[in-house]
Amino acid sequence: MKIPRIDIDIGKIAHNIQQLKKLYGSKGIQITGVTKVIGGNPLIASILVKKDIKILADSRIENIVKMRKAGVQAKYLLLRTPALSQVEEVVIYTDISLNSELIVLKELSKYAIRNQIIHKVILMVELGDLREGIMPLEINNTVKEVLLLKGLSLIGIGSNLACFGGIGPDASKMSKLSSIATHLEKTFKIKLAIISGGNSANYHWFKSSKNVGRINNLRLGESIFLGREALCRKPIPRLFTDIFTLVVEVIESKIKPSKPYGKVSQNANGKIKKFKEKGLMDRAILAIGGQDVDVSGITPRQNIDILGASSDHIVIDNTKSNLKVGDTVEFDLNYSALLRVLNSPYITKNTINFNECKAYCKAVEAKDSRNKLLTPSIRISENNSPLISLINTDFNLIFEPSISVDYMYLVREDILGKIGRISEKLNAQNKRLIIRSAWRSSEHQQLLWDTKFEFFQKEYPEKSFSGVKKIVSYFIAFPTKSMHATGGAVDALIYDDAKKCVMDFGTNKGYDINLSKKCYPYYPKISEEAKENRALLIGLFQSEGFVCDLKEYWHFDYGNAIWAIEKEKEFAIYGSISKLDMSINIKN
Ligand SMILES: *Cc1c(COP(=O)(O)O)cnc(C)c1O
Repeated sequence: MKIPRIDIDIGKIAHNIQQLKKLYGSKGIQITGVTKVIGGNPLIASILVKKDIKILADSRIENIVKMRKAGVQAKYLLLRTPALSQVEEVVIYTDISLNSELIVLKELSKYAIRNQIIHKVILMVELGDLREGIMPLEINNTVKEVLLLKGLSLIGIGSNLACFGGIGPDASKMSKLSSIATHLEKTFKIKLAIISGGNSANYHWFKSSKNVGRINNLRLGESIFLGREALCRKPIPRLFTDIFTLVVEVIESKIKPSKPYGKVSQNANGKIKKFKEKGLMDRAILAIGGQDVDVSGITPRQNIDILGASSDHIVIDNTKSNLKVGDTVEFDLNYSALLRVLNSPYITKNTINFNECKAYCKAVEAKDSRNKLLTPSIRISENNSPLISLINTDFNLIFEPSISVDYMYLVREDILGKIGRISEKLNAQNKRLIIRSAWRSSEHQQLLWDTKFEFFQKEYPEKSFSGVKKIVSYFIAFPTKSMHATGGAVDALIYDDAKKCVMDFGTNKGYDINLSKKCYPYYPKISEEAKENRALLIGLFQSEGFVCDLKEYWHFDYGNAIWAIEKEKEFAIYGSISKLDMSINIKN
């Protein structure tokens, strides 16, 4: 996939909406979904609609037109007070607009009549932040006039705080809005359906209020998409704050001086910058710049410092991260960074869904437990092929050190040729097959089990004995049940001789594999490179008739019960050999 890109987790967006609906709904407040930060992206907007958000609000008509044309079924609200020059479009493309100017309202009325439409309006009341809004003293007069305008329907009032002046919504501001609503209803004998208290900054007021008064609507953008309130920008409990991930690529990585040298003048941004002398430093350049993103609004998820940026480059301190050319860096984004990225034509928009990972894992686990149940009933027609050591072959293999002393890396005789061919194919690509493990005695399997058990016991000290046992059994077969006892199982990775390292399979650092659900072979949320490398490894073994384990991308079975189940064979050809009898089982 093209880089730079932004990963958008639509599953997490759906989750946040659901949580916010529950939270605000508990005191009778409905949510209007604000789409301006996503630039009216129809795919994302349709998730809001799917989660039963009835009104979508945007400050730009263009975004509303985009969503409408894409068939996103909602009522559309224009957030920014309409410009006189766009009133006809407002009437045609939006259902509701927020207003504060009588002259604009009169024009809206004119075009509504002309187009035979009833356009709904919400009047904005100034409560002190000093952006849009009618002064409370003038609201009576405005309402009186608006009620006379044909083609318009006054459906509510609203306020907007914490945007220009940084004045936050509190109990007194919100009860002021409530009392204005009640007063207008009494005075003009009307019913106002929507009392829209504000935006994501209203969270603290909401949490601290037992009684929200007449407020029954909030217009939320930041809370949905960044999982935060907008007064102190603190995460809202139970919401995701990592829906968006900006992924950028390293295009230069060098050791250079820390201080520019030569005659100092203005840089690309028209600034004269000062630098500290810190001697030679590891520096890198990322292929993204001020043209694509508000650089001050992005935070790397790993330990790097941004040294500066121009329109197409970000220069970073690479001392702690040791990034190479071609590596990628992930960033979190704030509201303004997100706004620009999602509207930049240079950045690929990529949707992901953590729920898919969940669904995939669930399917894997269901199938795995079904296989485990089936295993004992699989008939074994033992073909008695002996075990033979991979060490004594002339294949160009690497053997990962084992915890079992004098480990011999034994496989059934028929498997030897298969490993030989896989090995040759890899050698032709300047790669080598790493054999991690093959036949294991029951003592060996027990040792592995015990070691992992101790590891996870330390990792999760709060868990009970059976709790830890459950985690271990996710990844290591119980000694009596391991397919490794059949001599028909091989654990393997690939070494890249050009890059001089073990290939990246998404969960390993060299030989060291971090056991987690990401080890399930087709786990959706790993890098493209790791996916390709897994496909190479799995493809090679499959071409020799092996089946890849359901939970471990490095484990392959042939001839044993799991192989028989997966290949729908009538019987397995290899049963367990739990103890070696040198004279029968081993062939030199
Ligand atoms: C942008 C905007 C909102 C949404 O603000 P968030 O802080 O993103 O929730 C609400 N109302 C108006 C008038 C806006 O312009």
